[in-house]
Amino acid sequence: MEPKADIAVIGLAVMGQNLILNMNDHGFTVVAYNRTTSKVDEFLANEAKGTRVLGAHSLQEMAALLKKPRRVMLMVKAGPPVDEFIEQLLGVLEPGDIIIDGGNSNFEDTIRRTRYVESKGLLYIGTGVSGGEEGARHGPSIMPGGSPAAWPHVKPIFQAIAAKVTDPTTGKTEPCCDWVGENGAGHYVKMVHNGIEYGDMQLIAEAYHMMKDGLGMSPDEMSRVFGEWNEAELKSYLIEITRDILAFKDEDGQPLVDKILDTAGQKGTGKWTVMSSAELGIPVTLIAEAVYARCVSAFKDQRLQAAKVFPPPNPRFEGDRAQWLQDLRRALYASKIVSYAQGFMLMRAAAQQYGWHLNYGSIALLWRGGCIIRSVFLGEIKKAFDNNPNLENLLLDPFFANAVREAVPSWRRVVATAALHGIPVPAFSTALAFFDGIRSERLPANLIQAQRDYFGAHTYERVDRPRGQFFHTNWTGHG
Ligand code: NAP
Repeated sequence: MEPKADIAVIGLAVMGQNLILNMNDHGFTVVAYNRTTSKVDEFLANEAKGTRVLGAHSLQEMAALLKKPRRVMLMVKAGPPVDEFIEQLLGVLEPGDIIIDGGNSNFEDTIRRTRYVESKGLLYIGTGVSGGEEGARHGPSIMPGGSPAAWPHVKPIFQAIAAKVTDPTTGKTEPCCDWVGENGAGHYVKMVHNGIEYGDMQLIAEAYHMMKDGLGMSPDEMSRVFGEWNEAELKSYLIEITRDILAFKDEDGQPLVDKILDTAGQKGTGKWTVMSSAELGIPVTLIAEAVYARCVSAFKDQRLQAAKVFPPPNPRFEGDRAQWLQDLRRALYASKIVSYAQGFMLMRAAAQQYGWHLNYGSIALLWRGGCIIRSVFLGEIKKAFDNNPNLENLLLDPFFANAVREAVPSWRRVVATAALHGIPVPAFSTALAFFDGIRSERLPANLIQAQRDYFGAHTYERVDRPRGQFFHTNWTGHG
C-alpha cells in the first residue's frame, strides 16, 4: 500500500487529540499513535469517528503509513518521555525525516535534542503550542524552532491549523505561526509567553484585589468593569475570561469565585523564565513577582497565623470609585507595558546568548491570536517593531512612551494607596519601581560599588574619568 499520511501525532491526551482533529479539518491525513495503544482504538471509535484519521499500534506501523520525508509530532508529557520516544523513533525513521516536539519542553533540552537528532541525519523541531485545548482544536499559536531545513516541510500544516489574525501594519490576514529560529528558539519564546501569561494574570488579580477590598465591589460589579475594560486598550482573552469568571454563579446562586481556595498552582514555565532571566542578567521583575506571588499564596497556613499577629489596616480606599477605577485601569496598562518591555528585553538577550535571529514583530504577531495572552495590545507591539526593528526597549517606542507618561500619576496613586491600605500589589509596584529605575539618570549603585570596594576590593569606575578605568581605595586607612 502507498503511504498516504501527511503527519503522525504521538500522544492522545487532550492536546494531541485536538491537534489531530484540527489537522484533519484542514485536509491533512494524520496517523494517531499513543504509548497505551488502547487509546488509539478509543479515539478512532469516538472523537475521530467519521474522519480520515488513521490509527497505528506500533511505531513501525506508523512509519509505514507516512509519506516521506516523514513528519512525526510528539504531544507527550515533557521531560524523559520525549527522549524515550526520540530514541525509539530513530529506530524506525530514516535520514531526512522530521521529529517534532510540540510539548512544553525546556529550551535547553530542545537545544540538546536538535543537536542529537541532526547528528543522526534527521531533522528536529521543538515548538511551543499555546491556547490550551480550545486553541489546539480551533487554532493555536504555534512557535516552531529547530532545524531550519525542516521548516518548509512542516510550514503548510502548521500555518493551516494555526489561529489567524490581521497584521495591523499590512492589513493582511496572517497565521499565528512562523519560524522562530534555530534549535531551542521556539521553546524559548513559548517559555517567555508563559512567563508573560503569569504576569498578566497577576496584574489582573491585583486589580481585582483592589476593587474587592479597596473599593468594596461585588463580583457582579467587578465583572461589569472588566467587561468595559475589554472594549478598549486592555481588550484581551484574560480580561474577557475574568469578566466571565466574576459573573459565574455556583449552584446556590452565589459567585463561584468567592468559594475557590486562594492558593495558586504552577507547572514551571514561569519559574524557567525567571531562572533564564537571572542567568542572562535581565530584570524580568514583574514575571518574577508573579511567580513568587503564587508561592506566597501557597503558604496558606502561615498566612492564617500571621493574619492574627498582624491585623490588617482598614483596606478601604477613600474617594470617588469612578476615579479609582480609571486610575486602576491606567496603572494596569502601564504595568503591562513594563512587563512586555521586560519580556522582549529577555528575548533579545537570549537571542544574543544562543545565536538566534529573532524577529520581535513576528513574535508579537504569533501571540496576537490563538494563545492565552492574545490581545489588541500585541498589535501595538507589532507596530512598534515594524517602525523600528532594532527597538531596544518598548518603553522607548513613542506610542508606548506616551501611554506610560499619561498613566504615571494614576499608577503612583494606585501603588501608594495600596501600600497605605495593606493590599499587596507586587506586580503593580515592581513595574513602577522598574520604570523609575530605568528612567533614572543616576541610581544609588555608586554606593553599592563603594561598599563592594570597601569589603572586597572589587574596584569602581569614576564619573570624572573615562569608562574602563578601575580604582581601588583604602577606605579604612589601615595597611
Ligand atoms: P500530558 O498529560 O502532558 O501527557 C499525556 C501523554 O503523554 C499521553 O499520551 C501519555 O501516554 C504520554 N506519556 C506520559 N508519560 C509517558 C511516558 N513515560 N512514556 C511515553 N508516553 C508518556 O498531555 P497534554 O495535556 O495533552 O499535553 C501534551 C504536551 O503539551 C505537554 O508537554 C504539555 O505540557 C503541553 N501543553 C499542554 C497544554 C494544555 O493545555 N494541556 C497547553 C500547551 C502545551 P499514555 O496515554 O500511555 O499515558
